[in-house]
Amino acid sequence: MKYRMLFCALICVPVLSLAQEQQKDMPPGYQKQPAPMTPQMTEVWEPEVSVITPGDQPGMPPSDAIVLFDGTDVNKEWVDSRGNPTKWIVKDGSLVCVKGSGVVQTKRTFNDFQLHIEWKTPSEVSGDGQGRGNSGVYLQGLYEIQVLDSYNNRTYRQGQAGSLYKQYAPMVNVCRKPGEWQSYDVIYTAPRFGNDSTVYFTPPRVTVIQNGVLIQNNVSLRGPTLYIGIPEYSVKKHGPGPVVLQDHGNPVAFRNIWIREL
Ligand code: MG
Repeated sequence: MKYRMLFCALICVPVLSLAQEQQKDMPPGYQKQPAPMTPQMTEVWEPEVSVITPGDQPGMPPSDAIVLFDGTDVNKEWVDSRGNPTKWIVKDGSLVCVKGSGVVQTKRTFNDFQLHIEWKTPSEVSGDGQGRGNSGVYLQGLYEIQVLDSYNNRTYRQGQAGSLYKQYAPMVNVCRKPGEWQSYDVIYTAPRFGNDSTVYFTPPRVTVIQNGVLIQNNVSLRGPTLYIGIPEYSVKKHGPGPVVLQDHGNPVAFRNIWIREL
């Protein structure tokens, strides 16, 4: 017993006084134990989330979208590659590629965005492989999502409709028949460049939903689209770019094109 009391005197008393000393150094209001969490402690109210109005129907532009083509005037938002009026024609509310007229591209340029675009390959089937209903949607003018009649039309897998051309095949082939309207909903994150402006800091990333089905899930591109050669991760730094539609010699039609900058 005597020894136990002596032990307390030697050990416990200095420890207690040290704890009291430490408590003195704490700021006012310091509590050794955190207060119990309440539901309100993890609720964030400000700033309030922006209110927008959704489209009347699925696929129609919400109130904060930039409408790039509504079936009427193509010249409002689009030009050819030289900045001149395009030779593509507007027919029955759709924008139709005219062979040999070159690409059409938006006057505006974009970084990160959500894009909705509808397309239709000719109902009268001609050609095969890459020669049947070929066009494309170029993101920032550099990265092609393939547009192709891939209904009963084999070609290389990363060259069929919904592919990130020559880089990623679509997860499934969900193409409708030729002559039927199809949709792409695209979520695009532009590349970022570090101090070395010839290499991606983070490469571009793309998600594509075709006809309501996920076909590209946040894939990371290896470089700008190439027809011949290996895409280069090393790429000259670029800023915002246009949405570009490809002229591949087939009368592919487009409609209901809108974009939301993110
Ligand atoms: Mg193409």
